[in-house]
Amino acid sequence: MGDVFGQIMSNPAVVLAKNLCLLFWFVFHLALTFWTYRDADRRGAMAWFWSLAVFIFDIAGWAIYLVVRPPEFAADARERDLEIRAKEVALSLETCPSCAKPVEKDFLICPSCMKKLRKPCIECGKALKLPWNVCPYCKTKQ
Ligand SMILES: [Zn+2]
Ligand SMILES: [Zn+2]
Repeated sequence: MGDVFGQIMSNPAVVLAKNLCLLFWFVFHLALTFWTYRDADRRGAMAWFWSLAVFIFDIAGWAIYLVVRPPEFAADARERDLEIRAKEVALSLETCPSCAKPVEKDFLICPSCMKKLRKPCIECGKALKLPWNVCPYCKTKQ
């Protein structure tokens, strides 16, 4: 019985298949290690640690990495933060109704097209919107 098994295992086709399996496993293993390094690097996780873990523990290390890896790419998170900050800046900025250039909230006229944007309070001098009839800062009627 053992002799038959030995004969099968020494068959050139079986040896070739076995070597192909080993080669496939080796390539797959390297690809998995490389993929983990890239993925961890992009997510801002410890790329060297995780690729080493996958290299040593193979699929088991990879499975653990998939569970504990950061949920989003570090670059995506950074980009989203920048987007939110840009929106906040855009909301806090006013634009000239005439030429659409950015103007600050206390500008009396637009520095680009000279359009009158606000009027100074006759009492305290703060910039008031043109339709306001009373200064909200010092209660003086305009
Ligand atoms: Zn303007
Ligand atoms: Zn005032």
